[in-house]
Amino acid sequence: MMRLPWFRYVAPRTIEEAAKVLAGEGPGAMLIAGGTDLVPNMKRRQQTPQVLVALSRVEGMKSVANGSGLALGGGVTLFEVIAAPQVRANYRGLWQAASQVATAQIRNMATLGGNLCLDTRCLYYNQNHEWRKAIDFCMKRDGTTCWVATASKRCVAQSATDCAPALLALGAGVRLESAAGARDLPLADLYRNDGIDYLTRRPDEILTRISLPDATGWRSTYWKLRRRGSFDFPVLGVAAAARLAPDGTIEEARVALGAVSSMPFLTRAGEFLAGKKLTDEVVTEAARIVAGRAKPMDNTDFDVYWRKEVVSEFTRYALQELRGDDMQGVRMRIARRTL
Ligand SMILES: Cc1cc2nc3c(=O)[nH]c(=O)nc-3n(C[C@H](O)[C@H](O)[C@H](O)COP(=O)(O)OP(=O)(O)OC[C@H]3O[C@@H](n4cnc5c(N)ncnc54)[C@H](O)[C@@H]3O)c2cc1C
Ligand code: SF4
Repeated sequence: MMRLPWFRYVAPRTIEEAAKVLAGEGPGAMLIAGGTDLVPNMKRRQQTPQVLVALSRVEGMKSVANGSGLALGGGVTLFEVIAAPQVRANYRGLWQAASQVATAQIRNMATLGGNLCLDTRCLYYNQNHEWRKAIDFCMKRDGTTCWVATASKRCVAQSATDCAPALLALGAGVRLESAAGARDLPLADLYRNDGIDYLTRRPDEILTRISLPDATGWRSTYWKLRRRGSFDFPVLGVAAAARLAPDGTIEEARVALGAVSSMPFLTRAGEFLAGKKLTDEVVTEAARIVAGRAKPMDNTDFDVYWRKEVVSEFTRYALQELRGDDMQGVRMRIARRTL
């Protein structure tokens, strides 16, 4: 049995109180929301905070509010995201992504804020302490070498959040709050392509809100590759969203990738797609553009070259779904093959 290391636990009731505690405790403190990622990491001694600042009692982060678009509190659980009728109706890509995170039990605990701040993953890192010690620790924790790319000066662990690519495609923004004030930024600016320092969030900042723009006229979708179809982390996530004119011409589009780098990111396919109709030729060319940006590393248990090939396949599926093709059969086949 893996035991948790000792830590102090603080449970503030407001965002202001949480920000104050976090600022006062310094770098030895970490936020805990659902704990579904942090607790296993602590058991494996990958993360060993001395103080946990819990967000579970902070009511100010649990709302789902309509405005010009939709505002989701950072503490909203993935179950609540999926249950929100506005998400299901207007932000389908987010609904599909959140529905495919982990298991129903985990989604009841897991929060959207925690999902966006999720630690990066790697075959050589997501192992227990003894395993990592036996092969000699790596750069991400306690060591100096990267076992995936031994010449690399930076950790290339993969981003593993499902919701981030979906939210990037939907044009989301986030609010970060600290004792020093609040700042709003596009979600894309939250991430950095570095497996260790993967967020631009300062340690004293709390992700309190996710804002989605008005979705009128938009369609969105999310395609996930994983080892087990029942539940598993993504080894590829393709998210696409588009606003289409009545004649099917794309007025605006975004295509984002997840799990093929240390950060989720927007590709250039959106610019290519604007002003075009989703013909088979356009879909194929967009898929080629997207696949060109994917640089997966050999740090999951899938073949890295195959993973790259699947990027263009999944992009085609995503764009075909956006143009209105019935893709349910393809989704079922993928789920069955990965069961
Ligand atoms: C078996 C299993 C399967 C999983 N499968 C998937 C999967 O398929 N897809 C997927 O995306 N994830 C998966 N996860 C990971 C995890 O369950 C989810 O990503 C979840 O959404 C994390 O949210 P949480 O609230 O539990 O985060 P926590 O574990 O509480 O925190 C995660 C990280 O985010 C930070 N954090 C939390 N909230 C905030 C905030 N508001 N502001 C700033 N920082 C914050 C914490 O300090 C920590 O570093 C899986 C986990 C397990 C155990
Ligand atoms: S990518 Fe390299 S440094 Fe990063 S976790 Fe994996 S082995 Fe460690």
